[in-house]
Amino acid sequence: MLRDTIWYNNGNNFLLIDDQIKIDSNYKAYNIDLNGELKGIPYSYNLKNSKQGDSILKIISKNSIITETELLYRKEKDYYDNLSTNIEMFIALLAIVFIFYASKRAKKYKENPFVETEDWVEIGTSQNTIENDGWVSKPIQKKYKPNYLTYYGNSLKFTEEQITTVLQKRFPYFSNLSFSEKTRFLARHKKFMKSKIFKIHDKSGYKEMPILLSATAIQFSFGLEEYLLPHYQFIHIFPDAFLGIVPTLRFLEGNVSGNTINISWNHYLQGNQDPKNGQNVGLHEIAHAYHFQNILASSDNDKNFANDFPKYFYSSNKIFELEKNNHNSLYSTYAFKNAEEFWAESVEIFFEKPSDLKEKYPTLYNNMCILLNQYPI
Ligand SMILES: [Zn+2]
Repeated sequence: MLRDTIWYNNGNNFLLIDDQIKIDSNYKAYNIDLNGELKGIPYSYNLKNSKQGDSILKIISKNSIITETELLYRKEKDYYDNLSTNIEMFIALLAIVFIFYASKRAKKYKENPFVETEDWVEIGTSQNTIENDGWVSKPIQKKYKPNYLTYYGNSLKFTEEQITTVLQKRFPYFSNLSFSEKTRFLARHKKFMKSKIFKIHDKSGYKEMPILLSATAIQFSFGLEEYLLPHYQFIHIFPDAFLGIVPTLRFLEGNVSGNTINISWNHYLQGNQDPKNGQNVGLHEIAHAYHFQNILASSDNDKNFANDFPKYFYSSNKIFELEKNNHNSLYSTYAFKNAEEFWAESVEIFFEKPSDLKEKYPTLYNNMCILLNQYPI
């Protein structure tokens, strides 16, 4: 039964028409008689948030009384409850706006000048299936229709000639190799590509995607004994910057996570566009991946790399501090986030600005030559 009756405060006593009530030191409410004496058995009202002598403002139901203290407590609680709900709603709204913006951005990549799609061959599309161009089998289409295409490297039917054509045209590192080096590069490239699963987060993919990304890995590891990067089974390719959720919501050009290398195709191409500007997100992510594979992973390490890494690390530590405070730094400010980022950027600079690195920091340059067993100049 709902009763909505106001109780009036009369000193320490509370009057309700013809009755009176009092809260004692145990927070129990009693009826009192006209002389102010406690009367009868206490009410079993929940008065936890009330205090002695409190005014009872309202009876809501038989077992619920609101006192002034309770009311204040409830108001505060409601305030904080509403506040946290509002904050949660705000974060959810922000995430929706972010995702919307991300999908808009992703669609734009085809308009980007770095993506020259005219003479590229899409893989697994209706015009270019295995029947009419002999390149690849169709992508695996799952029943639940994932929003990406899956290509198993070992089912990509690229011939050596086709791979060479792409590399000659779009991968200067390869075109600058000698004949015998090219043969070795292609053998490694083929094995690497076969061992990976490529997931393209778009409606169609290009043959250049698996070919060029595998080539970047082989460029990095060309002097190493172990080059297959078995810890990283998956390579995810996004048309443009993609959304990273952990540890914070942000756009990424690339990252390595679990057994996956993720890359924004648009940014990857921008990195390849100018091979001498010291910025190459493909090499950056591959550097993270090989560091993890050879130093941090529990198996399949390249022993020479693991042995030579401390030397690089020692020289890089000193330069980390020097460059951090240098306005004319070879490195971007992002490199000073931690040693891992400094390593990844050192690799970009090593391959793209070797003369600058050698001139400024010969010890670091030499240690990197030894570590990677490559001598860019
Ligand atoms: Zn990084």
